Amino acid sequence: MSQTITVIPGDGIGPEVTEATLAVLDAAAADLEYDEQLAGLIALKELRNPLPKSTLDSAERNRVILKGPLTTPSGSGFRSINVEFRTTFDLYANVRPVRTLVPGGRYEDIDLVLIRENTEGLYVGVEHYIGMHGDPRAAAESVMIITRFGAERVCRYAFEYARAHGRKKVTLAHKANILKFTQGLFLEVGREVAAEFPDIEWEDRIIDATAMQLVLDPYRFDVLVMENMFGDILSDLMAGLIGGLGFAPAGNIGPDAAMFEAVHGSAPDIAGQGIANPTGLLLSACLMLDHIDQPDVATRIRCAIDHVIQIGESRTVDMGGSSSTREFTAALVRALAGG
Ligand code: NAD
Repeated sequence: MSQTITVIPGDGIGPEVTEATLAVLDAAAADLEYDEQLAGLIALKELRNPLPKSTLDSAERNRVILKGPLTTPSGSGFRSINVEFRTTFDLYANVRPVRTLVPGGRYEDIDLVLIRENTEGLYVGVEHYIGMHGDPRAAAESVMIITRFGAERVCRYAFEYARAHGRKKVTLAHKANILKFTQGLFLEVGREVAAEFPDIEWEDRIIDATAMQLVLDPYRFDVLVMENMFGDILSDLMAGLIGGLGFAPAGNIGPDAAMFEAVHGSAPDIAGQGIANPTGLLLSACLMLDHIDQPDVATRIRCAIDHVIQIGESRTVDMGGSSSTREFTAALVRALAGG
């Protein structure tokens, strides 16, 4: 029986990369039904609510969500819908693989996976202003929350992921030298979990040194695990190792729901121009297909992406080519048809 998934095209370049992704999923004969829903700026405009109940109900029903990027106003405005989804469905493990696709970049053969804790840390949004001397916003305070439960399950996820995917090593990156309580707890729990996986090599590293080492010698890493904000930042750095945000997929995995989205945002600078690279969302759809037990379809799509990029006739602007989103998508559809 085909699986129904909730599809949220999102805003900015979201509708363009979603259209491309659904065309490729259809060409690869993915056994899927789409329940398309609105969220973000488009939903705010059309339904006066950035996260309508109908969208949440659909996600609740289907438990598998493919989502385009959503613009989040900085500093004020509505709360991040991405964060809202992660907390509502307890999507605690954010899986962000990066793999070299376009040869001739800064590095060849990058193949790394970052597992980011997705529900705790500073992103719980517990923050407030403190008034002083007549200034109601003289200071601001954010609270970083790390729980033993949250740290334990994401570290365990990282080690189980490494084992299930034949990976050799897990690096836990932290700042326990300065944040001795919050980061110290994450490290303490990580050490305990690591002891249960003697077949997987592991190390812990300070986050800033990890960032430098990732740039100097990314090959020394394999799977990385860290708390929420560190993972957010380092996964963009890792996308840079393979040529940019256009190639980076993500899965947000919870106990009984999962959401798949590209790492990139709504890219307002290129929205509507038809030049966005859909590969990030396409590879996210592949993670989704693995998750819902259609790995053969995922493999076909990954092979088509590799093939089209290697041939080099259809590449989007960020890949150094001049193809539009639709031209690149058409090349993928042809490759899937064996043409
Ligand atoms: P961004 O990822 O949207 O863009 C950063 C740069 O990368 C831009 O120059 C953009 O043109 C380029 N880029 C991104 N995706 C690309 C693609 N597929 N093809 C080609 N080039 C691409 O980051 P930003 O500008 O910092 O954020 C814009 C908005 O997106 C913000 O409101 C932010 O909050 C939101 N955002 C949403 C998500 C999400 O929905 N998961 C993630 C990150 C940012």
